[in-house]
Amino acid sequence: MDIRLLDILVCPLCKGQLRHDRAAHLLGCRTDRLSFPIRDGIPVMLESEAQPWQDETEAPAAETPHA
Ligand SMILES: [Zn+2]
Repeated sequence: MDIRLLDILVCPLCKGQLRHDRAAHLLGCRTDRLSFPIRDGIPVMLESEAQPWQDETEAPAAETPHA
């Protein structure tokens, strides 16, 4: 299933764009170094559920920002 929701989901703390880690089933925020779990395909955007996270796949030209 195509999860288009991810395109509009932002970090509840900094309102920044989230990185979707499909393998780990989480959404990560680079700014806050936090990850939000995806349970049954539904992102849990709660600060209380967030875990420490670091983007290990961080690459300069990995993403193409779209307005
Ligand atoms: Zn954030």
